[in-house]
This record gives sequence, structure tokens and C-alpha cells, in this order.
Amino acid sequence: LIKNPCLSFLKRYLQRMSTDSKIIDGKLLADEVLSEIRAKMAAIESDAPKPAITFVRVGEDPASRSYVARKQRVANELGFLSDIQVFPETITESKLIEHIASLNANPNVHGILVQAPLPAPLRTQSIFGAVDPRKDVDGFNPINLGKLVTEDSSGFVPCTPLGLVEICKRENIQTEGRHLVIVGRGLIVGKPASILFVQKQLSATVTVCHSKTQNLQNITRQADILIAATGLAGLITAQHVKQDAVVLDVGINRQGENLVGDVDFESVYPIVSRITPVPGGVGPLTVAMLMVNTFKAYLLALKI
Ligand code: NDP
Repeated sequence: LIKNPCLSFLKRYLQRMSTDSKIIDGKLLADEVLSEIRAKMAAIESDAPKPAITFVRVGEDPASRSYVARKQRVANELGFLSDIQVFPETITESKLIEHIASLNANPNVHGILVQAPLPAPLRTQSIFGAVDPRKDVDGFNPINLGKLVTEDSSGFVPCTPLGLVEICKRENIQTEGRHLVIVGRGLIVGKPASILFVQKQLSATVTVCHSKTQNLQNITRQADILIAATGLAGLITAQHVKQDAVVLDVGINRQGENLVGDVDFESVYPIVSRITPVPGGVGPLTVAMLMVNTFKAYLLALKI
């Protein structure tokens, strides 16, 4: 009975009720986002081309391999067309840019994602800049970063910051006027998230911390919403968190067989009002928002 699509909403509601109300279930939220894309796809004529994304991966870094494989699996489950182009670590910057230019020119490719980090000496910024802004579903082309700053919604916003906003919207976490502290100023997460949350429609009061920040815990303890995006396992402990704060843990760190976040979950959990776990928190939203961006690029290309 529960397989009936009409009852999927009820299924998700029941799942939510049965889980710990403090823990934000990123997988469940991502499933909601993906169902909405499925519904929009169903409304498009069946003989129209399918959304198509090409992943570009350089080298054999195990984490990059697994991220790209996961993104491709979700794209395929949605009925998108997908392709992974793998290049050796020895590829030159100009050769890689040539390949990207051919994808830019291919009308059957709607979205292009170059998986970061890129091995040295490739310069990430010049590779990101080579992706056609209209196909830049990762949102790192300077044109799209500029549109983020100018609040121009025609651009593409990087997927993890977009996922953080989606969590706040779907979990009714108010941002307006609240103090949001981001630990980490990386290009992939911290910096674009700081620009996004300060935009008028979210209107948080944003503070960004980094490795040179002094008295980190004095600042993080002021946060109504605390975002950790450093890649340092367990950096954020109970001493860093205010009572009833919302904590969104972006970090993904390998500890032996396990993945852990930047937040010491055990010590922080009793204090917070809401928290994302690792894994199963922000990560699934990052992938879901990539699908949102790819579908947006597809609609843009087909002028639907
Ligand atoms: P970067 O390496 O680009 O940025 C890390 C940031 O952390 C830097 O700004 C650095 O400061 C800051 N930092 C380092 N040490 C400290 C410290 N002791 N105190 C305060 N700040 C510190 O990382 P990314 O932004 O690319 O990624 C961050 C994390 O998010 C990683 O674990 C990554 O795996 C994860 N990630 C997770 C995703 C998801 O979907 N869940 C998606 C993308 C990334 P400084 O600038 O001064 O060096």
C-alpha cells in the first residue's frame, strides 16, 4: 500500500514522526527534494530529451570516485542521462579546458560537474571558470559566484550552501535576524554559504570564522545557528555551542572505517535544539541540490 505514490507523503510524515526530533534526517529531506523533481519531470512531454549531466573526474582519488559514483547513481535513479569522463592526473590544464569546451558546445549536455579537489598543478579556479555558466551546475564559475553576490536568481548556487538553506526551509529553522556563525571560509562551503545566508530573503546576521580566528569558542557560543565546515574531526565540542542552538555539520572526515563530522556529536547533542548527523545530514542534500541545479540547467537549455 505504502508503495502507492499518493501515499508517499504519508510515508515520509510517519518516518519523520518515528525519528528523533532533534536529529535532522538529511536523507528524508533529500528524498522530498528528489520526489519534487520527479513530479516536475512527469509533467514534461515524454518525447522531450531527458536532463543530462556529465561528470569530469581527474585522477583516482578514492573520495572523489565515491562522490561522483553516488551523484551519478542519484541522477540515474531520477531518469537523468549521465556520463563520467575520467582523465589522468597528468592531464595539462589546457587539455582539460579543451575537453570542457567540447562539453560546453554539446547541446545534449545540460550540466557539467568537475569534481574537486583537482590534483596539482591544475588550478581549480581556471578549470571552474572554463565551464559554461549556463551548464555550471556546481555554481563555481565566477559569473555564477557574481550572481550569488548580486542576488540574481538566474545563476547557479553551489550545492552544499544551497542544501543548508533547504534544510532551514524544510525544518522551519528561522534565519531572519538570527546570528549564524560559519566555521570555515572555503570556496566550496563556507564562503558561498556566508553570502547566501546574508541575502535579503534569508537575512541572517552572519559571522565567518577560520583558522586565524581568535577565541573561536567565544564567537561560536553566540550562534543561534552554527555551521561547521572545516574538515577537522571533532573541532566543535560542547564548549563551542550555546544552549538550544541549531548545529549544521558539513564536515566529512574519515576515522578508520567511519565517517565523522567536524562536530563532536556525543558532547554537543544534549545541548542543541536541532543537529545534522554525519553521515546522513548535509551530504544527501548536497547531492539533491545538484539534481535541482541540473534540472534548472535543463529547463534553461530547452527554454521550458
Ligand atoms: P577548505 O579546506 O576549503 O576550508 C576549510 C576551512 O576551515 C578553511 O577556511 C580553514 O581556515 C578553516 N579551518 C581550518 N582549521 C580551523 C580551525 N582550527 N578553526 C577554525 N577554522 C579552521 O574545506 P571545504 O570548505 O572544501 O570543506 C570543508 C569540509 O566540508 C570538509 O570536511 C569537506 O569534506 C566537507 N564537505 C562536505 C560536503 C557535504 O556535502 N557534506 C560537501 C563539500 C565539502 P583558513 O581559511 O584560515 O585555512
